Amino acid sequence: MSSFDHHNNPMHSLLKRQIKRYLGIDNEVDIPKDMTRFIDAVNEAYLESDDDRKMLERTLDLSSQELLQSNSEIREIHKAFPDMFFTLDKTGTILSSNKGRLSDLLPGEETLVGKNISNIPVDEVREGFSSAVSRIQQGEELVSIDYSIDINDSEQHYEARFVPLLEEHIFVIIRNITESKNVKQALLKAKEDAESANQAKSRFLANMSHELRTPLNAIIGYSDILREEHPRQEETESLHEDLGRINTSGHHLLSLINDILDLSKIEACKMELYITETDIGDLITNVVSTTQPLLDKNNNKLVVNCRSSVNAVLADPLRLKQVLYNLLSNACKFTTDGTISLSVKKDKNNVDFVVADTGIGISEEKQKALFEVFSQVDSSSTRLYEGTGLGLAISLELTKLMNGTILVESKPGEGSVFTVRLPDTGHAGITGS
Ligand code: ADP
Repeated sequence: MSSFDHHNNPMHSLLKRQIKRYLGIDNEVDIPKDMTRFIDAVNEAYLESDDDRKMLERTLDLSSQELLQSNSEIREIHKAFPDMFFTLDKTGTILSSNKGRLSDLLPGEETLVGKNISNIPVDEVREGFSSAVSRIQQGEELVSIDYSIDINDSEQHYEARFVPLLEEHIFVIIRNITESKNVKQALLKAKEDAESANQAKSRFLANMSHELRTPLNAIIGYSDILREEHPRQEETESLHEDLGRINTSGHHLLSLINDILDLSKIEACKMELYITETDIGDLITNVVSTTQPLLDKNNNKLVVNCRSSVNAVLADPLRLKQVLYNLLSNACKFTTDGTISLSVKKDKNNVDFVVADTGIGISEEKQKALFEVFSQVDSSSTRLYEGTGLGLAISLELTKLMNGTILVESKPGEGSVFTVRLPDTGHAGITGS
């Protein structure tokens, strides 16, 4: 717009109107030419600022629309929130609240806003709230209290959490925890029931095993006596074989019963061990002689490597023998025409008894469940190998009771290495050969 083209300039018209009104005339008035430049400049500035103002108004408008939208979203979220929450001022008066799942704090009240926590009718709950409020006022960042209220003969449980806000206000979130508490209690009861059933089972097994052992020992004993009384001769051959079968089956059954008895004692925490400084040489000699008959069965040979810098270990000799015998008998069972070795090594403050074989091995996946009760790698009904799957579980538990552990390394087709790791006697000076 030219500075002299003032016909369309709103500022000129406005000025003219004002002059006419001021002078009380209807005639056209002319604005002096030298004023028009100045008026144009004022007009331009006015128009520019008007644009800015309009933009600001639009932005403000948009922002307030967004604010309204987010406020209404927050209100919806508040409504949908399952927990109840409210703000308190420092005197304990409720300033704002959502409805949430009713907290049953102030029964019969339409709204909680304006009420004070001192209005809570249940003494215990009221005291809990006021103590939580004063703890927050003393500077705690989060206070959590649990309370219960009887509603129509049904006990409802709540958890209330208090956190400080600005201006000494306090934010309180109340959650009804009745369901989760009931579930927790039911689970606890189920766990206790299962434990007591398990204990009953262990007691039963322990008693039964004990009762079975007595007649079984008699059967084994009498079959031994009868075999001695009827030495192997042509005419007694068949009787001798039958007595042999009775005896072998009796021993097999006895070892199973002993396993069950051991396991039930372990489960009932009734297994008593006599841990003492145990001579390794004697122990190995004893285990090797017991294992000898098993080696012949699958044509395996045994290599013993017992050159250790210690000759004693802290263990229950009977139980350690049982563990090593179990590992060696497994090695014999799962190896054919191979080599089984028993080595004793000193490792830091431990003594390692290592049983290695060149047998069928165990896959990595199966190794994970190896020490679980009744776990057998081949559990199909047409199992090639006999066994109950109790031996390793018992061995591990016994070793743990001797403050040790059992480690396993194995590769299918290559063999297995089981290491029984026990603490040494602590006598660093003990020598061995
Ligand atoms: P079981 O009485 O069945 O031998 P164990 O607890 O002693 O019970 O062993 C569990 C399973 O672990 C066995 O059935 C077998 O599958 C596997 N296992 C144990 N020792 C060996 C081994 N030396 N070589 C291969 N597999 C083994």
